[in-house]
Amino acid sequence: MFENLSDRLSGVLDKLTKQGALSEADVATALREVRVALLEADVSLPVARDFVKAVQTKAEGQAVTKSVTPGQQVVKIVHDELVHVLAGDAADIGALKIDSPPASILMVGLQGSGKTTTTAKLAKRLSERDKKRVLMASLDTRRPAAMEQLAVLGTQIGVDTLPIVPGQDAVAIAKRAKQQATLGGYDVVMLDTAGRLHVDDELMGEVAAVRDATKPHETLLVVDGLTGQDAVNVAEQFDGQVGISGVVLTRMDGDGRGGAALSMRAVTGKPIKFVGLGEKMDALEEFHPERVAGRILGMGDIVSLVEKAQETIEAEQAERMMKRFQKGQFNMNDLKKQLEQMQQMGGMQGIMGMMPGMGKLSKQMEESGMDDSVIRRQIALIQSMTKKERANPQIMQASRKKRVAAGAGLEVSDLNRLLKMQRQMADMMKKMGKMGKKGMMRGALG
Ligand code: GDP
Repeated sequence: MFENLSDRLSGVLDKLTKQGALSEADVATALREVRVALLEADVSLPVARDFVKAVQTKAEGQAVTKSVTPGQQVVKIVHDELVHVLAGDAADIGALKIDSPPASILMVGLQGSGKTTTTAKLAKRLSERDKKRVLMASLDTRRPAAMEQLAVLGTQIGVDTLPIVPGQDAVAIAKRAKQQATLGGYDVVMLDTAGRLHVDDELMGEVAAVRDATKPHETLLVVDGLTGQDAVNVAEQFDGQVGISGVVLTRMDGDGRGGAALSMRAVTGKPIKFVGLGEKMDALEEFHPERVAGRILGMGDIVSLVEKAQETIEAEQAERMMKRFQKGQFNMNDLKKQLEQMQQMGGMQGIMGMMPGMGKLSKQMEESGMDDSVIRRQIALIQSMTKKERANPQIMQASRKKRVAAGAGLEVSDLNRLLKMQRQMADMMKKMGKMGKKGMMRGALG
């Protein structure tokens, strides 16, 4: 699917990975080319712009990792950003809210987008994979051929379709389908609405009326992935006028420009839930942002190389720290690092409670009202110390204490509590280190 974009991006990034050191100008040039490649793949301008900006910011802020080149690191950042753009923050991809039977799924979209085919593909998936009893109904009263098409597909995949009653309008058919689903004990009823060649008021009015009559659990928009930016515009219109819960991108088996996938989430805020990968009834897949990003970039080896290198470095750092702690070397720099990690991991008590032997300290902290604002103040105190004081907190005498406390806008008593905590932790680390030498903690720490 993303052949052109993929070729362009790997061309640009290949040049980067072949260089040893990277200047800011190198990265800027590469990112300009990335932007052009995205635009040529029909990614919308604001999305392409934000994409490049995000990569640039991350590239500037990232520490250099040993054993990979800066260019390889940039590739990894581009990859992660692709995943982010494709997936957004939500975890609602591939999932449908169809727990309360009979749950209704409204299938909407333009004529020729692959709506009827996708309805049948999804019905097949739900009945075979998820063991749901599915009923399909075509609401396309204007095109008897479309109704026939769904009936034929139903027979082919072994899923029931609602018998056709000539003369009924879309809302009447939808109501009959829901009734039939309730009576017949179906888990899911899929409503294949009529399409038009373009978005028009009549179409939207009809779909909205069906929506009001059936209160669907999911409203899935089927759009042709080959139509690029148009697909995104159609999605915005349907979402604005009918409200959609997700998108199915069809024809992703073609070597289209792929821009629709990249812009869809960012522009509409709606998840791509499935992709159509062919005309056959099982050519429907859950949308996998990681996989798609991998396909777009075509540089999976570099991505996993950088991931491994980063993991190794983190492990090395942790090990170095552990060795120092075992010798009782736990100064204010270490405490600051711990406090910052605790902030990231959501508060102190939880974490202390999880560490062996720290339950008591955790309780003390709880009693002294140790919350995130306390952590912030403690970090401020440490920041107010000189380099020498951080490394050797035992040199803190009265005058130093006054200066440090004032520097953080706090009292000397606050600083005393921090110093006590640092001493306690250093002691504890030492004890744990000794236990480690006897072998008791080895399993737990290593
Ligand atoms: P509708 O008018 O939106 O209901 O469109 P149809 O379901 O009738 O599909 C129109 C054509 O697109 C049919 O020939 C389908 O086989 C084809 N089609 C649908 N989905 C896909 C897909 O994911 N990949 C490919 N290659 N063809 C598809």
